[in-house]
Amino acid sequence: MPVLSSSKPYRIGRSRTGLGLFATKPIKKGAKIVRYFGPLLDSKNKKHDAIENKYLFELNGRWTVDGSVRKNIARYINHACKPNAESDVNARKRKVVIRAIKHIEPGEEINYDYGTDYFKAYLKPIGCKCDSCEKKRKKKRAEARAEKLRLKAKAEKKAERKAEKQAKARDKLKGKSLSAKAANGKFINGHAAANPAGKAAAAKSRTPEFKTVATANARSRKVRASASA
Ligand SMILES: [Zn+2]
Repeated sequence: MPVLSSSKPYRIGRSRTGLGLFATKPIKKGAKIVRYFGPLLDSKNKKHDAIENKYLFELNGRWTVDGSVRKNIARYINHACKPNAESDVNARKRKVVIRAIKHIEPGEEINYDYGTDYFKAYLKPIGCKCDSCEKKRKKKRAEARAEKLRLKAKAEKKAERKAEKQAKARDKLKGKSLSAKAANGKFINGHAAANPAGKAAAAKSRTPEFKTVATANARSRKVRASASA
């Protein structure tokens, strides 16, 4: 790791994605932080054009800074979708400077937007891990959790209502059969037939019927007897 002079307002440190550059002193909005530098590559040069790495900074259609050299401290600066710095390109001078676009507090990670091409090629496939994208993901996860809970509660309520409906339907059916049994006279105090008391009551209630039938038979026999007499 390159040694940094303590007069610099930044240090290299551990970041979410590996290493990053962090402010060690307050950095004012608009202040130059560090130069992004390295060998200049000419797109007209076939050898240069064949060079491929993640630290190529295109100045214009022809010139590109190869920032992969160790001395280029700015290569430690990570991408952010809502950054606190920007890359200030002077194509004529073929110079790139990283400049604060917000006031940066000590301890804050310094970052700038790498641009759409880099984002599409390197970050989108693996998912951008910058603060604002992480926040978005967290929010989405929280929303998904809340939605799942809402659906679960809804399903539970539905099941509850269904159970209530079924219970009501059962009670209604039972009520009907109760009144039907009661109408038949097999039933007296509204208890189910399984109730021994109910059975006894039913048996008792049957007794007078037999008696009546028996008397009727006796009577009819009497009638017949008198008729034949
Ligand atoms: Zn992002």
